[in-house]
Amino acid sequence: MIEEMLPGIVRLEIPLPRSPLKATNSYVVLDPERPLVIDTAFNRTECRESFLLLLRETGCTPDGVDYFVTHLHADHLGLAASLARNGARVYFNEPDLPLARPANSYWEWMGRLYEQHGLPLSDAREAMARHPGRIYGPEADYPYTIMHDGDVLHRGGYTLRCVQTVGHTPGHMCLLVVEDNVLFCGDHILGDITPNITMWTGMTNPLGCYLESLDRVAALQLSRALTGHRSMIDDCASRIAELREHHANRLEEVITSLKDGEKDAAAVTPDISWDLKYDCWDEVHPVQKLFATGETIAHLQYLEAHSAVRSRNHRGRMLYRLSAA
Ligand SMILES: [Zn+2]
Repeated sequence: MIEEMLPGIVRLEIPLPRSPLKATNSYVVLDPERPLVIDTAFNRTECRESFLLLLRETGCTPDGVDYFVTHLHADHLGLAASLARNGARVYFNEPDLPLARPANSYWEWMGRLYEQHGLPLSDAREAMARHPGRIYGPEADYPYTIMHDGDVLHRGGYTLRCVQTVGHTPGHMCLLVVEDNVLFCGDHILGDITPNITMWTGMTNPLGCYLESLDRVAALQLSRALTGHRSMIDDCASRIAELREHHANRLEEVITSLKDGEKDAAAVTPDISWDLKYDCWDEVHPVQKLFATGETIAHLQYLEAHSAVRSRNHRGRMLYRLSAA
């Protein structure tokens, strides 16, 4: 499906087979010299075929365009890095770069980290083996063109300014259509689902960063946000307020769970309300358990940064308790 979003800017909906995200919204800023594609989809055959078919309908070819990728996740970067050739530029942010195509050792190390947070080793290993980022990421490294906050691109008569929104990933970068005050917002704000906030190496408080980035985007007083998945956002101020409330509620649920006493993150996780269908937590798929536990850890880290929670490493297990307890 192709839909015009602004004159000369179209959306391509690329289905993501068997993914709860359903599809990625890829955008093309048409330009007589060098069109710009913003985000792609997984590096897998079905996505590649859909993307190439729709791209051809816009009159573009995969190596006649440049790419701007909002963040490292495979449902945005995977195809871009594998389709770009013949000098096509792939614009990307610097903090996400080391994780664009991590080594096998990274996935094994992350599995052990989740085990420290209480996820059973078998679940952590299975989740890491089946992680979409590992299966559908770029198959090779690419000489990315690094973009920084405030950098500008000119395509299709539009001025496109980078707005860094750290939180969903360490370097998540949005792109502002300056003339219309419309933001290609990747996964920073989504209309129908809440962006996953998880733990990252080198970030002590990713949720804190994410909430600051929400302030940053709220201050832009956008006329519209063009999202990475599902519906567009016309009332950005209200959606940002809902996302804040969502995280405030989740922080409260974490505090309530810890009232029982000291726990690891995996033990807190079943006490949180998730947008998942299950009767008993044990039956939840290991990949979903891992995403949920990562989200719990980010909330625990936020509470610790605000001195509401304390952590300690007890025989290789990270335990959290309320500061007042
Ligand atoms: Zn995404």
